[in-house]
Amino acid sequence: TIPGVNELLQYKEKSKINEHEDENKRKHRSLQESRKTLPIYRFREDLMNAIRDHQVLIIEGETGSGKTTQLTQYLYEEGYCEPDTENVEEEEEEEEEDYDDDDNIKLPNGKKKKEKKMMMIGCTQPRRVAAMSVAARVAEEMNVKLGREVGYAIRFEDCSSERTIIKYMTDGMLLREFLSEPDLASYSVLIVDEAHERTLHTDILFGLVKDIARFRPKLKLLISSATLDAEKFSQFFDDAPIFRIPGRRFPVDIYYTKAPEADYIDAAVVTVLQIHVTQPLGDVLVFLTGQEEIETANEMLLERTRKLGTKIKELIILPIYSTLPSDMQIRIFEPAPPGARKVILATNIAETSLTIDGIHYVIDPGFCKQKTYNARNGMEALTITPISKASANQRAGRAGRVAPGKCFRLYTSWAYQHELDDNSIPEIQRTNLGNVVLLLKSLGINDLVNFDYMDPPPMETLRLAFEQLYALGALNHKVELTKLGRRMAEFPLDPMLSKTILASETYKCSAEILTIVSMLSVNNSIFFRPKDKTLLADTARQGFFTPGGDHLTLLNVYNQWKDTNYSTQWCYENFIQFRSMNRARQVRDQLEALMERVEIEIQSNPADTIGIRKAICSGFFYHTAKFSKNGMYKTVRHQQSVLIHPNSCLFDQIPRYVIYFELVLTTKEYMRQVIEIENEWLRETAPHFYKTKKLDDDNKVKKMPKVLGKIKAELERNYS
Ligand code: ADP
Ligand code: MG
Repeated sequence: TIPGVNELLQYKEKSKINEHEDENKRKHRSLQESRKTLPIYRFREDLMNAIRDHQVLIIEGETGSGKTTQLTQYLYEEGYCEPDTENVEEEEEEEEEDYDDDDNIKLPNGKKKKEKKMMMIGCTQPRRVAAMSVAARVAEEMNVKLGREVGYAIRFEDCSSERTIIKYMTDGMLLREFLSEPDLASYSVLIVDEAHERTLHTDILFGLVKDIARFRPKLKLLISSATLDAEKFSQFFDDAPIFRIPGRRFPVDIYYTKAPEADYIDAAVVTVLQIHVTQPLGDVLVFLTGQEEIETANEMLLERTRKLGTKIKELIILPIYSTLPSDMQIRIFEPAPPGARKVILATNIAETSLTIDGIHYVIDPGFCKQKTYNARNGMEALTITPISKASANQRAGRAGRVAPGKCFRLYTSWAYQHELDDNSIPEIQRTNLGNVVLLLKSLGINDLVNFDYMDPPPMETLRLAFEQLYALGALNHKVELTKLGRRMAEFPLDPMLSKTILASETYKCSAEILTIVSMLSVNNSIFFRPKDKTLLADTARQGFFTPGGDHLTLLNVYNQWKDTNYSTQWCYENFIQFRSMNRARQVRDQLEALMERVEIEIQSNPADTIGIRKAICSGFFYHTAKFSKNGMYKTVRHQQSVLIHPNSCLFDQIPRYVIYFELVLTTKEYMRQVIEIENEWLRETAPHFYKTKKLDDDNKVKKMPKVLGKIKAELERNYS
């Protein structure tokens, strides 16, 4: 070889590494620079002083001011993650085994000293996408690998480790942490972020964290929100001081439509194109209510821009919604290339939870998807509802972060003034409380009437939750938690699903039930139905149909997929969404681990479709419907008329009794995911609920026993 070549090659290698390092450093430096441009940066010192001086602080600031990404880092830099030295001695020994070598400090004499565990800074988010995305951003800013020092936890996915010191999580996840650590001793600071969203879990957290702050004087509690409701939060937290971060907000011109729009998706698409051809560059943000609408709008935009061809500038269409895979989510943050325009089709998530830079135009059709709950009959539904004025103003604000902007409201000015409520109703007042009541009961909180609510739930809703938990066997006649109830609370699921899982032990089919519950949890995204291949897709779907019902069909799909060793190709060939299947598999793994915690053996009995259906019946007996003479089904509990969903494998058959997973209201009230059951199973699986006398015909729902009358009286006495 020519002398020197090796050296030269080595040198080249080295310089490549250096280049890479430089690139990394450059990026890190520029990220650090951009941190300093955020509105919150100028208030860093004042903020830290205020936090030092007060245990509870309300922090209010415009969306995008840096609350979510910066507060945690400031606190970390300020030393809030340092181990709690006061308790070192007593805890040192018991903790010894928990650490791997990296956490040990080598002393000069060669011995290792175990270091005390660092404290965590926890920050809750109402939305899973926000928790993931913000954690990724902060990990990047701190130049660490996501899941190590900076991590996140959402339901069925824990991306944190022993090293994690900054942890983002959904509000529901922190709520569940109370089960394993009632005083949340691992945390030195808790940030309840996006407090203005007033989700059920955030509202319950308010009461719980206020309580632990009383007996953990060193714990810092930060309640952070967009510019809404700060006084109300302050009042609730014993007049805690409010720290306002003055936002930079440029004026936003608001445009209304002259007449109401018949089809707001079409109107939104037209508006995007009008902006694109008539307005100067700047990105567009469109608020839609969910994945389906976003996909429709996406297709319409693609088609119409294709027709316009090269006459127009490049338009980059980016969707964002909660179930979008994370690599796609990241793309919304990438700046549009020069000369092009981004249009982001988003759900409510972009209202305050995620800040996307560069938005100049907002299109607001005025709707969002909201959970509604009818406390009289216990029916829950997701419905498309008009937003509140507060939401409309938040949405408009997204156009004015970097420069003056424009907001196009696809409703009339009259509608804004007369038809929109001032504020949204907190979720606690419009949702089923079964899950939360079960959780609070297992935390030992028995008096749910006098719990410290910011806004109390309606009495009727609480009563229904008790009634349902009693019927499921989670509460006894003294309204105490039963052993079954305690085990049910271990699962981060609706009580009906938890009960189904626990009942699978009796019917020796826990493996099958786990699969079914996991498949149900990836809501209706298993079958793929591309518009140009509907016939093929439907045939493929029908090929999976299994006698007994849709739950068994889902089981069949999963088991076939498993037999191919989880093949992507197989999904593709059978019009099955690989992503959803993967997610179901992930959920299943998590649930399987929880099964061990409640000591249920995993047993498989795929042939016993009766046992499997009886287990489902044990959890879902509330959701029974009976075929009635007019060709409809009637729910047994409330005599509501419903139909089997056309996608169900039982659609053409007319079983006398069915159990459904959920009701969806489209043009009619449909039952989705349905199984056929026998009348007698109801009495076997839900003796508390169904009368035992007659074996044939009408199953009469039992009158709730006297104890529940007592609950009602008690509730009424306490509600003023
Ligand atoms: P706030 O919580 O006050 O609304 P954030 O801390 O979420 O503000 O956002 C501060 C800045 O960080 C914004 O300018 C936003 O663009 C940026 N940012 C946040 N998350 C990401 C991300 N995942 N990728 C890129 N930029 C992000
Ligand atoms: Mg935020």
